[in-house]
Amino acid sequence: MLKATNIRKRFGTHDVLKGISLEANKGDVISMIGSSGSGKSTFLRCLNFLERPTEGTIALAGEELACRRDRAGDQIVADAARLRAYRARVTMVFQQFNLWSHMTARENVMLGPMRVLGLTKAEAADRAEHYLARVGVSHRMQAYPAFLSGGEQQRVAIARALAMEPDLMLFDEPTSALDPELVGEVLRVMRSLAEEGRTMIVVTHEMNFARDVANRVIFLNQGVIAEEGDPREVLRAPRTERLQAFLSAQA
Ligand code: ADP
Ligand code: MG
Repeated sequence: MLKATNIRKRFGTHDVLKGISLEANKGDVISMIGSSGSGKSTFLRCLNFLERPTEGTIALAGEELACRRDRAGDQIVADAARLRAYRARVTMVFQQFNLWSHMTARENVMLGPMRVLGLTKAEAADRAEHYLARVGVSHRMQAYPAFLSGGEQQRVAIARALAMEPDLMLFDEPTSALDPELVGEVLRVMRSLAEEGRTMIVVTHEMNFARDVANRVIFLNQGVIAEEGDPREVLRAPRTERLQAFLSAQA
């Protein structure tokens, strides 16, 4: 499904990602853990080309995103039209929801299918209602984000990502901004998406989710993958001191 090879990202002189490779097959649920500043968000943003990798290649369903070195030498720039198509197939859910505040829940979900996929307003409305129902917020579809709880906002954001009917969904700490009592409703939706076989990469501090829902866990440390594997094994018996320390700090 997705193959990222040797992804590097440098900000000025700061090497944030030092060569990360990852393959996600259809139906994989990969959780990514690691301390703050280890490069988790940067890596997800590279996978979605919200950040341009300094080096490396990304292929979706065997099709490599057209990349070239720019004149300055080291940046990789993807072809604009393909980038647009790619972004529709790899959607992202953010920690801070990032809903448009001047649009209702339903309008937020309709926007991508209309603008990017070319659906008519009526088609997009049908689709939005379908996915808002899927995440359990049908009754709130005419509400503006400011009138929704954090858990409802995040479920709308998930519906928005689903409405593109993507091949891969990226989640960047989707429950970290929520009050504790609202975390469960979002995790339940994510668990049900995993169970229906969706391909997902989830940056999370929810160790139960990482252990019980994901089929692979990746521990990122200072811009490299320090450990990866079956979450039950990796989280129960970490091999590196770094992961041991990280896990004891979580508990
Ligand atoms: P994580 O999500 O694991 O907490 P991030 O990917 O957000 O880590 O950040 C990794 C490192 O990259 C941090 O040191 C951060 O300051 C740096 N960084 C992230 N984005 C930028 C940027 N746009 N410009 C400069 N440095 C950045
Ligand atoms: Mg982050």
